Amino acid sequence: CGIVGYVGYRAAAPVLLDGLQRLEYRGYDSAGVALVENQRLEVHRTAGRVVQLRRLMPTDPPATVGIAHTRWATHGAPTDANAHPHTDNSGRIAVVHNGVLDNATDLRARLVRAGVRLMSETDSEVLAHLVALSSADTLESAVREALRQVQGTFGLLVLDAQRPGEIVAARRGSPVVLGIGDREMIVASDTAALVRYTQRVVYLDDDEIAVVRADEFRTGTLDDRRTTKMPTVIEAPE
Ligand code: GLU
Repeated sequence: CGIVGYVGYRAAAPVLLDGLQRLEYRGYDSAGVALVENQRLEVHRTAGRVVQLRRLMPTDPPATVGIAHTRWATHGAPTDANAHPHTDNSGRIAVVHNGVLDNATDLRARLVRAGVRLMSETDSEVLAHLVALSSADTLESAVREALRQVQGTFGLLVLDAQRPGEIVAARRGSPVVLGIGDREMIVASDTAALVRYTQRVVYLDDDEIAVVRADEFRTGTLDDRRTTKMPTVIEAPE
């Protein structure tokens, strides 16, 4: 139901948890965070509220990149295992997803035939496996390939533990906004999660993908044409 991502110079966890809390008004049943530390994913997630997630997080994790999610369950009950972020079997790719994948049943069956071990009942989990199975040489291309196989809606953030400097974001039907900071970027489903850190924003359009790094971003269409986006300035909070 809500997504937040951070890449920059400060500790990511407080920004992500604060962002999730600002999205609480939208309602949700589960919450989770994935951070990258020493090229490994650290995933924390739980059914329940952001306060519960806070309680099971270590104090002051040093990671400066991460993605986070509040879930409104559509496929699979609100359990810890179904909470996002979802990862591939090697624990390298993490995904948070808002929306509904209409062909999830087919994709799950296809992945099982390919030897993938599914770890949740969600539609979203397939995205982590599809990205991991791609042989593309950039995360952006791997996400493009994965998204060519899905039907439905997504607001999506993807993290690759082996490429900790970037987050890939994509949108079809579920909002994604990039917050352009000074040597830091915050990506979210709603400006409420980022406006305290920056007021310069770029809204993704449907079928658009973005590669977001601390000091730069670029956007393109899912069928691989570059797009040029000018940041707009939103109002600072009180
Ligand atoms: N369809 C996904 C799920 O049930 C995402 C739901 C959401 O947007 O929070 O896990």
